[in-house]
Amino acid sequence: MRLQVVSLGELLVEIMREKVDQPLGVAGTFVGPFASGAPAIFIDAVARLGVNCGFIGTVGEDDFGRLIVERLERDGVDTTYIRSLSDYTTGVAFVTYFSDGSRKFIYHLSKAASGKIDKDQVDSDYLSKVKYLHLMGSSLSINEECRKACYEAVRIVKEAGGKISFDPNLRPELLGIEKIREISEPILSSCEVVLPSGEEAKMLAGTKDAEDACQKLLEYGPETVALKRGEKGSWIFTAKDKIEVASFPVKEIDPTGAGDCFDAGFVVGLLREWPLEKVARFANAVGALAVTKKGPMEGAPTLEEVERMVRTRRWSGG
Ligand code: ATP
Ligand code: MG
Repeated sequence: MRLQVVSLGELLVEIMREKVDQPLGVAGTFVGPFASGAPAIFIDAVARLGVNCGFIGTVGEDDFGRLIVERLERDGVDTTYIRSLSDYTTGVAFVTYFSDGSRKFIYHLSKAASGKIDKDQVDSDYLSKVKYLHLMGSSLSINEECRKACYEAVRIVKEAGGKISFDPNLRPELLGIEKIREISEPILSSCEVVLPSGEEAKMLAGTKDAEDACQKLLEYGPETVALKRGEKGSWIFTAKDKIEVASFPVKEIDPTGAGDCFDAGFVVGLLREWPLEKVARFANAVGALAVTKKGPMEGAPTLEEVERMVRTRRWSGG
């Protein structure tokens, strides 16, 4: 089976506060575990959109690890290069949401199985055939081992003529912003497309305005910057153009994973070699459907669901 897309990075379970505005540091109820990790949500969404894809990552030999691997396999992700370690436990993220839309995490990642990506897993035969390698800034931030695995994967894919897509997915809880900028630079200058949110673009570029930030990100070398704007849709920047693409109105149940699912839709659209506006519209539909279910991966839609939305639903203004 020839894989078109591979992602590499943290696999973890997410354990969420049941209600909003419950700080993590007080006794109360949680729901989960849910299979998660930004690159894992991305690859699961790619598989559900019907594209051959695989994942490189590590879990512990425990029920959380099995839950993640079974979930990815069920949705069609190749898990040949996911390894399971007996002396490490599977990564965990605790998360709570506040009514202003912000969220707070406690991570157990850098010393968990999630960060133990071995050189042998970054296999050049496996990676040299892929068309897109998708990386997340969170994976660069976990620890040095994981960061080196990301850089090595980029080197192999680029050398073989494949392309890189990059979601900065900044997690200041994991590393300070100066360090994040430094470690993101080699990826920004090697990638075809960057997919930030407004806050991420501003933090990464060091500007006050998201549009200026996207222009600055283009200077690193990517062909395209796709700015995710939540319920407002997305703006797509190239050296020549800015394309504003409106969202599909939906009832938001859980925003987790929208950005990762948008990335999946965008990469699948690029693989199909569609014009950028069509790519973004498709990605907006994948992101919109993702927020309609509770749990990070639960909303990842099938190709039929996305096609139906693109065909039948009006866009909201914007
Ligand atoms: P994440 O929480 O995964 O980090 P993000 O901030 O990277 O998300 P968002 O901008 O929240 O990404 O969502 C990605 C895309 O999904 C948006 O650009 C939009 O197209 C779609 N989307 C997200 N939320 C909504 C919504 N409430 N209604 C309609 N579409 C939405
Ligand atoms: Mg969001």
